[in-house]
Amino acid sequence: MSKPEVLVTRPLFPEAREILERHFDVEYWTAPERISRAELLRRVADKDALVCLLTEKVDEELLTAAPKLRLAATVSVGYDNIDVPACTRHKVVATNTPGVLDETTADLAWTLLMAISRRLVEGDTWMRSGTWPGWDIDQLLGGDVYGKTLGIIGFGRIGRNVARRARGFQMRVIYSDAAAAPTEVEKDLSARFATLDQLLAESDFISLHVPLLTETRHLISKAAFEKMKRSAHLINTSRGPVVDEAALAEALENRKIAGAALDVYEQEPKVHAALVARKDVILAPHIGSATTETRTKMAVMAATNAAALFEGRRPPNALNPEAIGL
Ligand code: NAD
Repeated sequence: MSKPEVLVTRPLFPEAREILERHFDVEYWTAPERISRAELLRRVADKDALVCLLTEKVDEELLTAAPKLRLAATVSVGYDNIDVPACTRHKVVATNTPGVLDETTADLAWTLLMAISRRLVEGDTWMRSGTWPGWDIDQLLGGDVYGKTLGIIGFGRIGRNVARRARGFQMRVIYSDAAAAPTEVEKDLSARFATLDQLLAESDFISLHVPLLTETRHLISKAAFEKMKRSAHLINTSRGPVVDEAALAEALENRKIAGAALDVYEQEPKVHAALVARKDVILAPHIGSATTETRTKMAVMAATNAAALFEGRRPPNALNPEAIGL
């Protein structure tokens, strides 16, 4: 019996390939450059399943171009690249990779927090320039992390792991979210619910962990920067469009906040030119989940979701099981 056919937009990792190749006839996109939209539409047209990355959009156009498609698995927890209601209309099950990247992404948020507060990248640039004159009393003075207030916006899987790490620094942790966390979780993490306005006004570090939704697009805008402390640092490892980059550049220029460390951008791979020019900004290339262990787990999870559906089971991370009455 012939196997179902899957298009995989990167070769992923051997552990995931092994699962996929047991269940599917697999076509990988192996070119060094990312698959173009035209090539994606052409290659997915006769496939039963698609395993894709967050850089590939699964929308009405793609779903119409792929009439046999039954599954779209993104190798990411954020699924703003997938139009889930359109998938449901087309009877396509969409899946993501929640849970396996929480610790790794929380580590990166903390890496950025520490690096921006202690001006590490500025220091590195200085050392490499060959112009550092040696130790002095007032060089590259940063701010303390220890004992400060950390504000977490989006207190889900990753946000809570960021909170847990703050204990070691004896920080005060406040969070805002669409819903308050259970009391046991608040107690366990020594975190207190705050309104968004309270959080913006009281935090020394503001770390973003909301999904990209209509309601969270430009959640951090000019009005939000006006409410922050002038000494505040913004950390964004969620999705770029959650922050209005032009407003961020303006807030930094007008010293409304002290600095920002970003992993994600409004129009990746582009970065707002005014941010590139600034020393009080750290720019990471969307590496929140980028460890060998975690990326492997994510790829295996996507492959496992795909395999489950074609074995007649509900994919463990189905976003719309109702699409096919599972
Ligand atoms: P999650 O669903 O566990 O948590 C998200 C939290 O945001 C939830 O508690 C939810 O209630 C809250 N929320 C939703 N809408 C809100 C709103 N309008 N206002 C306030 N709070 C709101 O998700 P997660 O697994 O913690 O991931 C969060 C996001 O991080 C992902 O959606 C993804 O976009 C991003 N992410 C980025 C990277 C990276 O590489 N930089 C890696 C992993 C995840």
